[in-house]
Amino acid sequence: MQVGRLGSTLVLLDGPLEHAAPTVGAVRLVSLAGAYWRGDPAGPQLTRIHGLAAPTEEALVARIAEREEANRRDHRVLGRELDLFLFHPYAPGAPFWLPRGLVMWNILSQRMREHLLGEGYLEVRTPILFDQALWETSGHWENYRDNMFIVPTGDRAVSLKPMNCPSHMLLFASRTRSFRDLPLRLHDQSILHRNEVSGALGGLTRLRQFSQDDAHIFLRSDQIQEEVLRLLEMVDRVYRFFGFPYTVKLSTRPVNSLGDAALWERAEESLAAALRQRKMTYSVNAGDGAFYGPKIDVDVTDAIGRKWQVATVQLDFNLPQRFKLRYVDEDGSEQMPVVIHRAIYGSLERFLGILLEHYAGNLPVWLAPEQARIVPINAKVLPFAMSAAEALRKRGLRVEVDDANDTLGAKIRRAEVMKIPYVLVVGEREAEAGGLNVRKREPGGKSLTMGVLAIDAVGDRLVQEAAVQF
Ligand SMILES: [Zn+2]
Repeated sequence: MQVGRLGSTLVLLDGPLEHAAPTVGAVRLVSLAGAYWRGDPAGPQLTRIHGLAAPTEEALVARIAEREEANRRDHRVLGRELDLFLFHPYAPGAPFWLPRGLVMWNILSQRMREHLLGEGYLEVRTPILFDQALWETSGHWENYRDNMFIVPTGDRAVSLKPMNCPSHMLLFASRTRSFRDLPLRLHDQSILHRNEVSGALGGLTRLRQFSQDDAHIFLRSDQIQEEVLRLLEMVDRVYRFFGFPYTVKLSTRPVNSLGDAALWERAEESLAAALRQRKMTYSVNAGDGAFYGPKIDVDVTDAIGRKWQVATVQLDFNLPQRFKLRYVDEDGSEQMPVVIHRAIYGSLERFLGILLEHYAGNLPVWLAPEQARIVPINAKVLPFAMSAAEALRKRGLRVEVDDANDTLGAKIRRAEVMKIPYVLVVGEREAEAGGLNVRKREPGGKSLTMGVLAIDAVGDRLVQEAAVQF
């Protein structure tokens, strides 16, 4: 942090003002807001001024348009408009999932579960509250305590878990393991809590309470390359499915590292070899690995060019040592396994937020909480609309009927605001023919009229679109 002078005003900077200033050709003020010194409500009140600057007026106009597009896609706004989740000041950083939002959350969770089962993962669920002793063993008590919610109970403290890793170490150590058991892949979507300062909280991207598609893989050091290759294939399949281009970074041994040099070298080489084998272009962040192992990070680029760090494949030589993990090798000797921490979505909540912005709320049929809405033009055709909805629901589809006493235009407008993928209009002609007049919402938000289709044909189409898998 630096202090700079702007005329008679002192300003705090996290970058050098004097270097940037000469290149600024155009400035626009964006907002004024009140703030407290260091986020403390008892502290002095400050005014926070947000502005945009660019080298030229033209560049500034482009930057403003970009911001407007980003605001239009803001998942916090979409969350309200599409009725997905809400926040309350009594639970900062913890979303309330509304029925529609929970449908989406459950689908994301379930799809990943099914996928991982097919990939040889075992799903487990571990406790939320743990005694201080666990965190002392794992090193969190010493290094991560400020980010943990600690609950005093008598003379001991317990803490809400900020991550699953230590509890998975206990599971591994709970019985004798053989080399035949490896790789052992434990998947866990338990609720996690991290004590983020409230100023850092905003929407789903930074939460105090969330779940990850978390997994820990216990393996022999000669299995690293093959396992990482499998993980890179999974990353590719999942992100391709969502339409995210992505970039990959390999972070290597830092100065203060733990574990022997030969193991580090072999591990880094295994990661690089897997990346080469997948023919992935990647950048190397030399010395940027964690002290306990090298890692691969994946950033996705969303529909408007913003980057989000999501997946991580992190090797760990430290936790197996702290928890004294052992397996019996082929020759009968006891060996220490290596652990890989990995997540593909990262936090499910944050990934859902990124997806909402990526799709600008125009959700694909498989993920949309309401896949189709039937719109009867008057009360006379309402019974037909109801029976059509029932027939579609029986096929596992999420279908609602807009039975409000409103004009057709108002009902269609309402469905558009909710970005429902299919709007099925029923008039007397359709009711007589036993069909539905189909309007499909295209990814850009325009609607495409498809004419009258029989209820079964609409059902076939929706079922097919909903069945897509990673
Ligand atoms: Zn972990």
